[in-house]
Amino acid sequence: MSGNIISELADSSLKVIREAYESHGDSVIFLTSFGAEDMVISHLSWEAGIPLRHVTIDTGRLPGETYEIMDRVREKYGFCVEIAFPERKAVEETVLAHGINLFYKSREMRELCCRVRKVEPLNRVLSSAKAWVSGIRADQTSVRAVASEVEIDHAHGGITKYNPVLQWTSRDIWSFIAENSVPYNSLFNRGYRSIGCAPCTRPVNPGEDERSGRWWWESGTKECGLHVNERTDVILERGK
Ligand code: SF4
Repeated sequence: MSGNIISELADSSLKVIREAYESHGDSVIFLTSFGAEDMVISHLSWEAGIPLRHVTIDTGRLPGETYEIMDRVREKYGFCVEIAFPERKAVEETVLAHGINLFYKSREMRELCCRVRKVEPLNRVLSSAKAWVSGIRADQTSVRAVASEVEIDHAHGGITKYNPVLQWTSRDIWSFIAENSVPYNSLFNRGYRSIGCAPCTRPVNPGEDERSGRWWWESGTKECGLHVNERTDVILERGK
């Protein structure tokens, strides 16, 4: 992958980030889980002086390494990271009824846990936003493959969703990280390719799908419900 192509991708992504911020200011939130793609967005925003609001969801089950990279984002880039937590009562009731590790019991239980700990906090955060920025890539899942760089998110009240690194491959992302000394979650050095909650994420073997380490005991789509695509209305497409 040549540096020119990475640089073109970065320029294209920056246009999307800039458009998001110039259109919505503090009413657009960047939902980050500090994955490799998210770190590229943080870096591009910082380099361009765009004070994108960083928001993350702390499910209460994150690995320690994710808290470390969260602090690195604050220290290196100076972004204030807003943290959204699940509703205490909902977590307590779910755990009381089904146990702390309910997600291993069935897909239904896993989706319940994701709903309580991830999806509801996200919905709460997005209910006060006019738009959001996400670090999804088109080649990650079938749901993400039909996303667009700028789209209307009907699942969240018709707000605008910006996906600035949609067209990047994993190789592009890691080339950019290496070339620009972007900090990243140290779990990537231990074979993790996609990082979520500690009990639901494991390393993958070389050549395996990067999402195969998420909820590895399940078959089918590896989504937690954050990135729902009901074939959203495309309002702008770039880089195709
Ligand atoms: S990823 Fe696992 S622990 Fe995290 S919210 Fe979903 S089911 Fe619960």
